[in-house]
Amino acid sequence: MPSRPRRTRVRRATPAAVQEAAEVLRRGGLVAFPTETVYGLGARAFDAAAARRIYRAKGRPSDNPLIVHVDGTEMLARVVRRTTPLARRLMAAFWPGPLTLVLERSALVPDAVTGGRATVAVRCPAHAAARALIRALGEPIAAPSANLSGRPSPTTAAHVLRDLNGRVALILDGGPCRRGLESAIIDARGRRPVLLRPGTLTPAAIARAAGASIAAPGRRAPAAPGTRHRHYAPSCRVELVLPAQIRRGDVAGLSARATGLLHRTPWSGPDPAFRRRVAGGLDAYARALFAALRDAEKERVRVLFVETVADRGVGRAVMDRLRRAATR
Ligand code: AMP
Ligand code: MG
Repeated sequence: MPSRPRRTRVRRATPAAVQEAAEVLRRGGLVAFPTETVYGLGARAFDAAAARRIYRAKGRPSDNPLIVHVDGTEMLARVVRRTTPLARRLMAAFWPGPLTLVLERSALVPDAVTGGRATVAVRCPAHAAARALIRALGEPIAAPSANLSGRPSPTTAAHVLRDLNGRVALILDGGPCRRGLESAIIDARGRRPVLLRPGTLTPAAIARAAGASIAAPGRRAPAAPGTRHRHYAPSCRVELVLPAQIRRGDVAGLSARATGLLHRTPWSGPDPAFRRRVAGGLDAYARALFAALRDAEKERVRVLFVETVADRGVGRAVMDRLRRAATR
C-alpha cells in the first residue's frame, strides 16, 4: 500500500465509483464518503495499519477513537462482544440513522480504532452511498469526520477536498449532508442511556425509545474523548451573541471590515463583510452551521459572530458545537 496518495480524486457516488472505493479500502487505503451526518474518512476497521492512516491524514491525536460503521445488526455482531437490551431498543428505533452506540468491543477490533479502550463506538448510517460502500466491502468501516483535526466537520465533498487534498485517495461525492452535525453518541452498556455527545436526535426522543431517562456522563462513562478539546473551529475567531442582541441591532465589534454574522433572527443593523441568515427551524441551522463557518473563513473574516439557540432538543447539539468552536 503506497503510504500517501499524491492526488485526490473526487467522484460522484455512482455504483461504479462505490465499487472502486471498496477496492481502495480493501487494499488498506482511505476513502472519504458521505453520510447523513457529516462526511467520514474511512478505512477497513479490522486493519490496524489502515486505521492508523486515518489518524495521520487528519493529524488526529491517537487517543481520540474512531466510529465503526456497519450495515446492520449482523455485521455489528463481529464488532461488539455483546449487545444489551438498551442497545437493541435504540437500534430498533434509530438504525439506520444518526445514533452511535458505545458497547464492549470484540477481539477483531484493533486498538488503533478504539484508542486502546475496552469499548467501541458503532453506528449504522442511513445514507445510501455509505451503506452501499459498507456492503461492497463486506466489512465494517472505521471513520471519524473527514476534516483536519480541530476544524469544522465537512458537510460537502468540497469541504473534504479543501482539508484532505493529497491525503486521501478518493472522495465519494453524495451532495450536501442532510443533518449537518455529527451523530449523538450513547453509552448503551447499562440500563440507562448515557449521553456522551449530543446530536440531531434529541435527548427526549432517545429517552422515549430507551424507556429510561438519560444519564449524564459520570466517572464510569466519561464524556466522549474528542469532546474535551477546542474543536469545530474555523481559522477566524468565533464569538457567540444572543438573539436579543441581534433583534436590537446591538453587536459590539461588528463592522464592515473583516467581521461576519451568522444568524436566524432578522438583522437590520449595518452589513458586515460576511453575513448569512439561516431561515427555518433548528434543523436548518444545524445543517448550515459547519458550511457557514467555512464560508466565513473563505471571506477572510477575522471575527465571526454567531447567534446562539436555546440549549435543548436539536439546540443542545448546536450549542455543544458552537461553544467548542468559540473556545480559545
Ligand atoms: P468523529 O466521528 O470525528 O466525531 O469522531 C468520533 C468520536 O466518537 C470521537 O471523537 C469520540 O468522541 C467518539 N468515540 C469513539 N469511540 C468511543 C468510545 N469507545 N467511547 C466513547 N466515545 C467514543
Ligand atoms: Mg470529528
